[in-house]
Amino acid sequence: MEIFRDFNLKPFNTFHVPARAARMARFKNVEELRALLNDPELKDLPRLVLGGGSNVLFTQDWPGVVLLNEIGGMELLLETDEAVIVRAGAGMVWHNFVSYCVDQGWGGVENLSLIPGRVGAAPMQNIGAYGVEIKEPFHHLEALRISDGQVVRFDTDACHFGYRESFFKREGKGQYIILSVAFQLNKQPKLHTHYGSIKAELDKRDIASPTIRDVSEAVIAIRRSKLPNPEVIGNAGSFFKNPLVDPATARALQAIQPQMPAWPAGGQVKLSAAWLIEQAGLKGWRDGDAGVSERHALVLVNHGSASGADLWRVARHLMVTVRQRFGVTLEVEPRVIGGGADG
Ligand SMILES: Cc1cc2nc3c(=O)[nH]c(=O)nc-3n(C[C@H](O)[C@H](O)[C@H](O)COP(=O)(O)OP(=O)(O)OC[C@H]3O[C@@H](n4cnc5c(N)ncnc54)[C@H](O)[C@@H]3O)c2cc1C
Repeated sequence: MEIFRDFNLKPFNTFHVPARAARMARFKNVEELRALLNDPELKDLPRLVLGGGSNVLFTQDWPGVVLLNEIGGMELLLETDEAVIVRAGAGMVWHNFVSYCVDQGWGGVENLSLIPGRVGAAPMQNIGAYGVEIKEPFHHLEALRISDGQVVRFDTDACHFGYRESFFKREGKGQYIILSVAFQLNKQPKLHTHYGSIKAELDKRDIASPTIRDVSEAVIAIRRSKLPNPEVIGNAGSFFKNPLVDPATARALQAIQPQMPAWPAGGQVKLSAAWLIEQAGLKGWRDGDAGVSERHALVLVNHGSASGADLWRVARHLMVTVRQRFGVTLEVEPRVIGGGADG
């Protein structure tokens, strides 16, 4: 396996910010991964596993090795009249996996169509969109434990999925490399069409009894109209999570801002980060080439030659402004590398 030195990461992150890795190597299976982890040139360096680079912001170069996950392949583990359990390699492009399932008539992931990135990163933050999170169709995953090189199986409970959270982002951070993910999908699925504008999009298309494919196509159309395409303008999707506050805080805020959107969320109240940013007058705001999307207040964008540090400065400006205006702390969703944010 080839080891690259002083490797250019700009094409490997969807913000398209300049960054370099001291070393970079690709792996296509667990044996190649083990060999890289034991390689004398790499074994003592800090490691960063990358899939599609669509949920990272490099604010500085990576001083260690970037391991690019290219484990492909799909396998049908079980099929009954009602359901299938299907396993996908962690390096498979997520949307290709979704499209394959839609083609087969297997329901469960259609609302997650067109999310960028690879299968292996999907459980990291329990990806979610249009009323569905990956934890629902998730069955199990296999990951390599770095400390002893063993392959370990995690079922749903062991993943500790939360809102854009999992064991792998918290307690297990940096200790496992996800190799494959298995999903349980339904042949007679219950469709989720009442979230966001899916129903309106289906109505516009005159579809009263939608199929999995109809839902997938509606989601794709909505996403294309709402979200900036990272191939055209660098971004990593939503940069902030929707904040969770206690009910008393939410009531106090709503007394001053009666139109503020808020949803009950397991004893807490979820606020709209996009609404808070927009009300703070920051939708479309920019500082040089780093800014906030004009289409979606949650999305930070690279208008051309912004660095990761420029984007991180914009992010901090948004956090400070929202905190001063509403007393609410915004939490960052992607992994921020360097700049004192993560490392
Ligand atoms: C336009 C746009 C829209 C988006 N929309 C959504 C959305 O609707 N919902 C949503 O949840 N997300 C969304 N995202 C965020 C992103 O697409 C997802 O988080 C995706 O799962 C990231 O996949 P990736 O392969 O690019 O991960 P990367 O950015 O490569 O990695 C992300 C993190 O996971 C770790 N990692 C990656 N692969 C592995 C592995 N195999 N083992 C261990 N660790 C690993 C990395 O080290 C890093 O910490 C969007 C992003 C963009 C650019």
